[in-house]
This record gives sequence, C-alpha cells and structure tokens, in this order.
Amino acid sequence: MNGLHEKLRDIYEEVIRRNGGEAEFHQSVYEVLASLGPVVDKHPEYVDYQVIRRLCEPERQIIFRVPWVDDRGTVQINRGFRVEFNSALGPFKGGLRFHPSVYLGIVKFLGFEQIFKNALTGMPIGGGKGGADFDPKGRSDNEVMRFCQSFMTELYRHLGEYTDVPAGDIGVGMREIGYLFGQYKRITNRYESGVLTGKGMTWGGSLVRTEATGYGTVFFVNEILKAANDTFEGKHVVVSGSGNVAIYAIEKIHELGGTVVACSDSGGYVVDEKGIDLEIVKEIKEVRRGRISDYPELRGGTARFIADRNVWDVPCEIALPCATQNEINDDEARALVANGCRIVAEGANMPCSPKAVKLFADAGVTFAPGKAVNAGGVATSALEMQQNASRDSWTFAETEERLEVIMRRIHKRCLTTAEEYGQPGNYVAGANIAGFIRVADAMLALGLI
Ligand code: NDP
Repeated sequence: MNGLHEKLRDIYEEVIRRNGGEAEFHQSVYEVLASLGPVVDKHPEYVDYQVIRRLCEPERQIIFRVPWVDDRGTVQINRGFRVEFNSALGPFKGGLRFHPSVYLGIVKFLGFEQIFKNALTGMPIGGGKGGADFDPKGRSDNEVMRFCQSFMTELYRHLGEYTDVPAGDIGVGMREIGYLFGQYKRITNRYESGVLTGKGMTWGGSLVRTEATGYGTVFFVNEILKAANDTFEGKHVVVSGSGNVAIYAIEKIHELGGTVVACSDSGGYVVDEKGIDLEIVKEIKEVRRGRISDYPELRGGTARFIADRNVWDVPCEIALPCATQNEINDDEARALVANGCRIVAEGANMPCSPKAVKLFADAGVTFAPGKAVNAGGVATSALEMQQNASRDSWTFAETEERLEVIMRRIHKRCLTTAEEYGQPGNYVAGANIAGFIRVADAMLALGLI
C-alpha cells in the first residue's frame, strides 16, 4: 500500500479482494493509482463520485468455451476471454492474445492499461482486451483457422463497429485476423470492415498498421532524444522479442541511424554487433514461422545465439522491451544500468516490474511506459476504422505521417501533464494522469452507468 494516496488505499484493497489471484491485474491497477495522488487532491470529485472505483471494475467480462478439432481428429478445448473494460470514450478497443499463459488476470491487466492508452491517443476509443489460452506455435494453418472460427462463433455476438473492435496482440497477426473476420462476416452476413483492425490491404486494412506499434515506439523514443538535443545516430539499441512490435521497431531504428545489436524470442537471444539483419529475422519469423536460433547460420560472421537467457545483459544505450509483461525485473534492470543504458521505453505492455522502474528512476535512466510508448498501434487501428467508415484508403506516407504526429502529441501530453502535476520529466505520471483525466471526465459527464 506504500505510495498510495490515503483516499485510494481502500479502492486498491477492494481490487485485490474481489479479483483474487490476478497478480498482473493488481500490478497494473497499482501502477495507475500510484500516480493519481496529486489528481485526487486537486479533483476530489473523482473519488466522491466513485469514478476511480468504477474504472477498476470492467463493464462486462465474457468467458467462453472454444471447442475445435486438431489435424489428428482429437477434440481440443480452450478458454476464450473478452473483457470490455470501459466505453466512456468510444467502442471497446484492444487486441486479442493467443498464448498458453492467458487467463483472466492477464486479460484484465491488458484491458485496464488499454483504457488509459486509448485515452492518451486523443481518439474516440474505449478500452478492452481478449484472447485465449491457445498456442498457435506448431499448429498448422488449418488448425489455426478452425480455432479462430470456433472462437468467433461465440464472440461475434458481443462485437460490432460501434460496440467492440478487437485487433491483434501476441500470437494474433494478420493470418488470425483474416480467419476471425471471415467467420464474423459469414455469421452476420455483413461486410462490416470496422469490426476488427489489423486486416489485410485487400480486405479493409490500413497501410502502416502492421508497422505501427514498432514505428510508433521508435517515434516516441526519438522525441525523448530530441528533448535532450540528441538523435539515434550511432546509438546501440537492444530490442527484446522478434515478433510484430520488435521487427518494426528494429526497422525504424535502423532508418534513423541507430544500430540494434540484439533481439530475442522465448528460446534465447542473438547478438550481432554489426547490426541485426532484419531481412533474415523477417524470413525466420514472418515466412518460416521459425526460431531466432536459426539467425547465426543464415547470417554467418560473428553473430551468435545464446540459449535460454534473456537479452538484457547485452550492453546498450537504449533498451526497448518488446516481448511480454515483467520481462525486466531487478536483476535485468541492474544489468542495464551497470552497462550504461540511458533510456528504457516499453514497446510491450508492462514489461518492466515496479522494482525495475524504481531502479531506473534511482539511477537517472529515462523510463517511458508502454501506455504512451506503444500507443501507436491502437492509434493506427483507429485510423483504420476511420478509413473503413469513409470507405477510403490513405497512402503509406500519409498514414505514417499521421502516426508520427500522434506520437509527438502523446509525448508532449505526457510531459505537459507531468509538469502540471509537479513531476517534471516523469513519463509514468504524465501518461497515467493525462489518460485518466480524459476518461474520468467523460465518465462524470455520462452519469452513473
Ligand atoms: P508477437 O506474438 O508478434 O511477438 C511476441 C514476441 O515476444 C515473440 O518473439 C515471442 O517469442 C516473444 N515472447 C513472448 N513471450 C515471451 C517470453 N515469456 N519470454 C521471451 N520472449 C517472449 O507479439 P507482438 O509483437 O504483437 O506483441 C509484443 C508485445 O507488445 C506484447 O506485450 C503486446 O501486448 C504488446 N503490444 C502489441 C501491439 C501490437 O500492435 N501488436 C500493440 C501494443 C502493444 P516466441 O515466439 O518464442 O514466443
């Protein structure tokens, strides 16, 4: 309870009591509440009208059985989730995660984060998240299709372009979105493009959506650098993961003159002092759906693979965790600080534990939270919805420029809000407070619902 304003302690206690065993959800609520002390002092109405307590309780939680048959003819049963957390600003919006670790606590933490992230973008989207404990790894295309069709056969009744609009996340890329959209279209008999984002270009997708989270992450870091009269030129960067976010973060860093010297997957990491060759990573991950351990053989030279270790002991000036939650704990944070890292920006959702964030603050490392840093993905999803609604499609350059402007605005919003609430330069406070106020004001306006 340390670090929470006295008016927020009972709210947090209640969250723990009513959501037993959901450690990641508790963590994400704590992180936001810990920033809201100065807001509660200035605006007691948010507590008086129970806005904060209401925010911690999802509007709707859906849990369902997903039965399907694998290639051997065996029946498989998975569990599907959709947590529709808050729709004060617009339809519920947030991705679907397919990963064996998915349970209600992870979906709720992601959904809770999503509320503030979406608010920060300034766009008309509420917050939600979903997924299943299904592991697409090692499954054939047909198995993935049958799973997605079964998943959507239940979920479709809860979705709609004005109700709830899912997208991708870990384990859900364009292939899965295609199967999900196909089944939605078939069941509803409607070509309702705006019901899912992350679609392919020939069936309602937006240019730049694939690249958006990674590019947006790098645009945000570029703003941090600019604020210190610095650039990516000559910087060594470590990126964790080698999925959607990591790949396009690496691409943009190289475009801006930085060098990514290491990336990873759940089997280990590769170090390539000359700079990660992204074409090889794309071939492994996007074409072969293989493992990053194949990289050194394809690359040759001095590139090497280190099995079963995480990537954070590789020296760098900038670290971008782009894999999963809580991948940087005390030990990893200490290694980064000891090796001279100056900026840590979260491409993934909540990859840094609270202790790691504290260690960065104590060591003077600039830390930027995922809510702000990776918001470019959902912002571009909202741009995809805009194009769907107007039956229009914009060029790559136009869409990328919009993304960059949005990231610049988010960066500025974080800094001005942090300043306004007496914590200059604190991106965590700025992101949490700015996101919170936008949602809280809408909730007050809409009455007790
Ligand atoms: P992908 O599934 O495309 O890639 C995830 C990557 O992280 C893979 O390389 C995966 O390796 C690695 N990974 C996953 N779990 C672990 C683990 N426990 N240890 C080490 N590596 C791991 O997902 P995304 O790139 O889409 O998502 C990455 C993060 O970014 C997530 O936190 C997600 O919530 C967040 N995010 C994604 C957005 C998007 O638009 N896609 C938007 C905003 C946030 P392996 O293949 O071996 O599992």
